[in-house]
Amino acid sequence: ATMPPLLSAIATAGRHGVLVKSALAMERLGETDMAALDKTGTLTEGAPEVTAVRPSPGSGLDEDALLALAAAAEHPSEHPLARAIVAAARARGLRLAPAADFTAKPGHGVTATVDGQVITVGRPDAHTYAEDAGVGRPDAHTYAEDAGVGRPDAHADAEDAGTVVLVERVGTPVGTLTLADRLRADAPETVAALTALTGTAPALLTGDNPRAAAQVAAATGITDVRAGLLPQDKVEAVLQLADRKVLFVGDGVNDAPALAAAHAGIAMGRAGSDLALETADAVVVRDELAAIPAVVRLSRAARRLVI
Ligand code: ADP
Ligand code: MG
Repeated sequence: ATMPPLLSAIATAGRHGVLVKSALAMERLGETDMAALDKTGTLTEGAPEVTAVRPSPGSGLDEDALLALAAAAEHPSEHPLARAIVAAARARGLRLAPAADFTAKPGHGVTATVDGQVITVGRPDAHTYAEDAGVGRPDAHTYAEDAGVGRPDAHADAEDAGTVVLVERVGTPVGTLTLADRLRADAPETVAALTALTGTAPALLTGDNPRAAAQVAAATGITDVRAGLLPQDKVEAVLQLADRKVLFVGDGVNDAPALAAAHAGIAMGRAGSDLALETADAVVVRDELAAIPAVVRLSRAARRLVI
């Protein structure tokens, strides 16, 4: 028998390094008319590095002590930021205390008990302490400043290209870490190809801060940028584009709900979380972003043969 067009498209996609999970998934990929892309691990390589360690003046911690504390709490996590923090501590030869009662909150950060004290590492604007205390979600800036989190050189801080995470000890901020990630080399051409294919520029949906999001958007030619999103906010953003059939591309546990809600979902395979890989319609196994527009084109060609 001749191979049905959608199945032979799946075989071709496989040769491009994209694992498409079913004929239905292959079909949906070509029906999409707009892309929405995650930032960290999707448009960027997802291998961030710690670029600054800033203990809070009142914390009694020096850089190494702050980094060791954060790394101890992050040690059980598989999040790219966690791996970077642990690697930075190792590179400085720091000894990590064991962590107990570890929990990770997708899109937020981690909590663990280290040396008998509850340590939280995560988003500066959504930490559990403020929520527990019923103070809502204070603006990251004001809160960090009120709490005396060290911004010894406001200038250097503003120039940091990256993600800032807040470290708290028993609910009190003790410092921040800055992490920077590299843009994937094929990100700009992929955004351009998706724009040409769908007639609409892709949107950027990220849990990271607006400044880090704006840098990646500027470098790739994206103008529709939504930052500071929690996992459920990414779903809302996808659903808000109700007149669109959205192709969502992501890698993290925090992307899984949006991958499920989108008309079609593609996960980045190499560093992608198991949950994202299981939820997506297709997985980019070799981590080449350029395979994404290629697979949309394949699907369209196959659908023309089917219909
Ligand atoms: P993105 O949507 O860009 O892929 P995530 O939703 O994974 O990013 O993370 C959003 C934000 O949540 C990060 O910028 C960071 O502030 C915080 N965060 C998430 N996981 C962790 C972690 N393990 N350690 C520290 N911060 C984290
Ligand atoms: Mg991500």
